Amino acid sequence: MQNNHPFWQSYLNLLDSVKELIPQDLQKSLESLKYCRRALSVDIPVRMDNGTVQHFAGYRVQHSLSRGPGKGGIRYHPDVCLEEVMALSALMTIKCATVALPFGGAKGGVAVNPYKLSVGELERLTRRYTSEIAGIIGPEKDIPAPDVGTSQREMAWILDTYSTNHGYTVPGVVTGKPIELGGSLGRKDATGLGVYFVAREALKKEPSLSPNKTVAIQGYGNVGSSAAREFVKNGFKIIAIQDHTGTIINDKGIDLIALDNHIQLGGCVGSFKESIKDNESFWEVNADIMIPAALELQITPARARKLKCKLLVEGANGPTCPESEPIVNSKNIIVIPDVLANAGGVIVSYFEWVQNFNRDIWNEQNIHQRLDEFLSKSFAEVWNWSKEKKCNLRLAAVSLGATRVLHAHHTRGLYP
Ligand code: NAD
Repeated sequence: MQNNHPFWQSYLNLLDSVKELIPQDLQKSLESLKYCRRALSVDIPVRMDNGTVQHFAGYRVQHSLSRGPGKGGIRYHPDVCLEEVMALSALMTIKCATVALPFGGAKGGVAVNPYKLSVGELERLTRRYTSEIAGIIGPEKDIPAPDVGTSQREMAWILDTYSTNHGYTVPGVVTGKPIELGGSLGRKDATGLGVYFVAREALKKEPSLSPNKTVAIQGYGNVGSSAAREFVKNGFKIIAIQDHTGTIINDKGIDLIALDNHIQLGGCVGSFKESIKDNESFWEVNADIMIPAALELQITPARARKLKCKLLVEGANGPTCPESEPIVNSKNIIVIPDVLANAGGVIVSYFEWVQNFNRDIWNEQNIHQRLDEFLSKSFAEVWNWSKEKKCNLRLAAVSLGATRVLHAHHTRGLYP
């Protein structure tokens, strides 16, 4: 195991930096958050369409189960490794606690480029991965959801594989599943919507952060595209979008309907009519609000130095490199950290899980309203904690979440 993996290391450093911000009687237990409760590595042999068998590495990590069952997505990406999954799972522990959900933190992943496999190969991979991790997941144990490279489709395969082996349908084993299988209305857009809600709350506190109502978004997948639509709906202009295929910059505002139509017809950001070749210019675009909503460690020090935004809303998990943090802070950019900014997804996943237990169906308006209430309350708690502790929002969100987890540890006691 590569313990000095940059993402895992950045999580460990983050914990060290919040030590003084958590109550003194809990500080000595902070060390416990540097360990993952359970980490499972599995081999996934898949029969490929050409008859050969290929092996893929898969993982499921449960960082903490102190506040409830594990909760966290499943990522399909070639760079997935155990340490990345550990870091993502630890961030889920903090995130669930920061927004006061009764969940621990978990995450899963498979080292695969899903775009290079056929649908049949992906289905066989997902079903075998599910059966390999089936012993540690379940509605009361650990509930996966989609993440980068996975969607409702994979959740349906997981539900079916798990349920078939249990002899009855278990809708609560995953969230983010199709509506007809017990998925929640409003889940698909929840993370992007949440990104907008927390940005709106920040602008209520500091209206001067967005004089021009302009936004730049990296990543135009689930999170980025939903966030973009919500900002536009509320009178903002999206002036830059970047995905892994290219960059679009348009100071007059990008036409999202035209872009969505282009993508629906098989196009991508890089092949859109306004796309440009110079991807790095995305980071110096003159937008009030910058939303990284692609992958981790995107805001390198060099890119941080280029930033012109006033508000940075982390739609992705861990998009800001730790070395970039002082640069961002020195530019007085307010950062709404990932554990708060992208918590909309896990909050509506929680709603989905509750509906599955009760065999209930809530309407979309109710879900959006509850999501708004959850995030507005969480934003206010983090904001107030940051004022009380005299620290930035990242340190406030992480120390508040860590404090809640450590309280749970402390109250439960150490077994045996
Ligand atoms: P997705 O697969 O739907 O979209 C990812 C986007 O990132 C795509 O547009 C892709 O082109 C882009 N991208 C990938 N590599 C890139 C690169 N090198 N440069 C520029 N763009 C690149 O994934 P998603 O579900 O939207 O997740 C995005 C981020 O949000 C991830 O960090 C994920 O962990 C986090 N997140 C997602 C959810 C959710 O509900 N989906 C919830 C919380 C956090």
